[in-house]
Order: sequence, then C-alpha cells, then structure tokens
Amino acid sequence: MSEEKERRIKGTCKICGAELQVNIGDLTVEEVKEKLAARRGYECPGFHVELGAMLEGYDWDFTPFEAEPVMTDEQWVEKLRK
Ligand SMILES: [Zn+2]
Repeated sequence: MSEEKERRIKGTCKICGAELQVNIGDLTVEEVKEKLAARRGYECPGFHVELGAMLEGYDWDFTPFEAEPVMTDEQWVEKLRK
C-alpha cells in the first residue's frame, strides 16, 4: 500500500445531511459524475437505503481535496474502478 494521500470529493446527503467522502483516485470529475449517476441504490452513512442515483441523492462538491487514506469507502472504490 502506498503512503500517498487520496483524492476525494465530498457529498452531503439531501435527505439526512450526512457527509460522505469518496476516494476518486485519478478519475476526472466527469468520470466521477458518470459513476455516481450510474450507481443506483446505495446505503447512506446516515443509515437509510435509497434506490435512486448517488449523483442525485447528495449535494456534491466536485473539487477534489487530499486526505489521509482510511479504510472506509474502500469497497466503494473497488466498484468505482471496475
Ligand atoms: Zn442520508
């Protein structure tokens, strides 16, 4: 595992206000938007399950920021990279 910082974007749930951070790796913003739009059905960190697209369910800030790697979101990232 590398020590490099992750590139992340942040979203705020439109329903419960929970904040979600997603490691976008080296994806472009446009690619991330496509992935989020394609991902329908998700579990919010605020503990509710929604059937719509993640792109619509959160108010996203698409300005990437760097953060220390953590284990959360790893499964999500694996799916993102497929
Ligand atoms: Zn929520």
